[in-house]
Amino acid sequence: MTITHIRLDADNGLLDYIATLFTTASKTVVITGAGISQDFRSRTGAFSKALGAPTNRRKAARDARWGRDMFQSSVLRHEGQSAAFYSYMTRLHQSIKRARPTETHLFLRALRDAGILVREYTQNIDTLSEQAGLLAGMSPIDADLEKRGKRERRDRRPHCVPLHGSLHYLRCTLCSRRHSWDNGNHELKTMDGYAPDCPDCADASVRRVRKGKRPITVGRLRPDIVLYGEADSRTADIISMVQHDRSLKPRLLLILGTSLSTHGVKSLVRDFARTVHDSGGVVVMVNRTQPASSTWDRFINYWVEWDCDAWVRDLMLRQSFPSKATELVRPGHAADEPAIDENGSGGSNGAILGSREWPIDLTSD
Ligand SMILES: [Zn+2]
Repeated sequence: MTITHIRLDADNGLLDYIATLFTTASKTVVITGAGISQDFRSRTGAFSKALGAPTNRRKAARDARWGRDMFQSSVLRHEGQSAAFYSYMTRLHQSIKRARPTETHLFLRALRDAGILVREYTQNIDTLSEQAGLLAGMSPIDADLEKRGKRERRDRRPHCVPLHGSLHYLRCTLCSRRHSWDNGNHELKTMDGYAPDCPDCADASVRRVRKGKRPITVGRLRPDIVLYGEADSRTADIISMVQHDRSLKPRLLLILGTSLSTHGVKSLVRDFARTVHDSGGVVVMVNRTQPASSTWDRFINYWVEWDCDAWVRDLMLRQSFPSKATELVRPGHAADEPAIDENGSGGSNGAILGSREWPIDLTSD
C-alpha cells in the first residue's frame, strides 16, 4: 500500500470521497497535534506571547529553543531553570485562557454531537478542545454513568484524552491531587518562579500537628503536564482507554495537525490504523508535512496536504458531506464567539448545528 497524496488543485474527486466517509465510516477516532491550534502556535500566538515578542529572527530562534527547553523534565532539577519554567508556564497559561477554539476544534465537537466521534486523543496541552465543549478525561466506562439516559451518557462521557496533560490545572508532586491555577495565590507565586505548597498536604499536616503528631512533608504544585523524558503515571489509563476504543471497531482514523514525531503517538496511530483497516475502514491525515512513506505506507491511506481549518471549511461546502451538517462550523465563528459557558458545555458554540440525524449513535455501545 502507498499513501495517496491529495493535492488541493488536482484532487477534487478525492476530497469529495473523503467527505463521504463521515456517513459511511461513521465511528471515528481522531488524533490531533499542534496544527489544529495554528493561530495559537503562530508568531503572535500564545507560545510567542509567553516569551515576549521576538525583536528579530535570531532572537526568535533563540526563544524557540528556550521554549522547547522549558518542556524538558531536566528543567525542574535546576533551581534557576525551575524558576524560569514556572514563570514561563504561568504566562503560557494566561495566554491559553485568552485563546479560542479553531474551526477544527468546533468540527470535532460537532462529530461528538452527531455521535460519530469515538474519541479525540490530543497531544495539545492548550485545553481548546475542552473549550469547544469536549469533556476531557481518562475513563471510558463509569458504572454510575451507565445507568443514566442516553443523552446524559453522551454528554458526560469523556471524548478527549489529553495525552500530555493540560495546562488548565496544577498537580501536587506528592499526593497527585489537582488544583485550579486560579485558586488562592497560586498564579502570583508561579509567576515569580516559585512552586506553591499543596493546600491538601498542608491541611493534612496541620491536622496531624493539632493531634500532637509530627507534621508531614507538604507537596508542591506543578503544571499538570507531561514533560519530555518524564514517566507518565497515567499510561495504564491511556492503554485501557485505547483498548476500549479499539473494541468499538472504528472505521475512520483522522490524524489532524501532527507530524507524528513522538514515539507514543506513533504507536497510537499504528494500533488504531490496524483496527480501522481490519474493519474495512480508512486512515486520513490532514497536515502540511508529508508523512514518511517508509514509516507510514502500511498505516495511512490518504494524506491531505492542507491546513486543518481550511480543510474543515472546504469539507462543509462539499455536496458529498451530509447536508444536515453543512452548518456545523460557520466560517469566522471561532473568532467571535465566547468559547465556553459556566457549565463547561460549550455555551453559544451550540451554533454547531443540525448534525444529530447522522446514523450512528455510539452511546448505545
Ligand atoms: Zn498534595
